[in-house]
Amino acid sequence: MNYLKSSKLGFVITQLIVLVSLLLLTGCSSRNKEEPKNEGVKARESLKSKKLNVDKVKVKKDSHLKWIHYKEKCRIPILMYHSISAGNALRVPPKQFEEEMAYLKANQYYTLSTDEAIKAFETNSLPQKKVVWITLDDAYKDNYTAAFPILKKYHLHATINYITSFSQKPNHLTLSEAKTMQHSGLVDFQSHTVQHLDLNALSTDVQKQELANSKKYLDDNLKQNTRMICYPAGRYNQTTIRLANHLGYKIGLTTNEGLACVDQGWYSLARVRIAPGIDRQTFMQLLQNGY
Ligand SMILES: [Zn+2]
Repeated sequence: MNYLKSSKLGFVITQLIVLVSLLLLTGCSSRNKEEPKNEGVKARESLKSKKLNVDKVKVKKDSHLKWIHYKEKCRIPILMYHSISAGNALRVPPKQFEEEMAYLKANQYYTLSTDEAIKAFETNSLPQKKVVWITLDDAYKDNYTAAFPILKKYHLHATINYITSFSQKPNHLTLSEAKTMQHSGLVDFQSHTVQHLDLNALSTDVQKQELANSKKYLDDNLKQNTRMICYPAGRYNQTTIRLANHLGYKIGLTTNEGLACVDQGWYSLARVRIAPGIDRQTFMQLLQNGY
């Protein structure tokens, strides 16, 4: 009888120890969760849909990433895609896009959001050694129908540069599609101006409208602070840079080729053009060297 009692007591004590350990562990992880995080991670944390439970797993991983500080300025490959389809030199077929995304996933590349990329440039630090920033210009409809399923499949993040007056064009993303993508936590949207005009050829006033109105549209509709401007056809001048800075943009993306580094200028960052038909070897070289 005594033996039974003591074994029961032992069982209860064991259970209590397990319970206390669990409570302590939970306490630790919730403390970690309270640490300041960038907006990209916050956005990913705001996911509510059941379907996106996978994202929550990633969120947990991301929030525990220890950013590594580097002495030298960060050099980041910013991949430049446009349409994910076929037909001309700017269109990358879905099969190629998928192979490239699969490569990034298999080789443990971390795909930055805009906020994370800005943080990297500002602090000279990276969430891990191998990073890449995927950008798609012009917000084509196929970014939703072809690219988005692939990003979801491999759980990678990309940034779409949106032309705000194109939201009603049949070949481009509607605002509602943009919101769906944004809510997934896998895509963020930045400015590619209002009308996709050559900024270098515009008066200061019209340039200002293109930069200010597109930012306001995205800020209001996507409830964000739009901090990146991507120049249409990579065309810009000193007035563009001055205006972008004045209007609250943090960085500007060009079509100059190479790895991006703030030495190029915060508003003159280079990108890595991904052409249709390139092979695996070329893709690997582009990631490494930017050309
Ligand atoms: Zn464009």
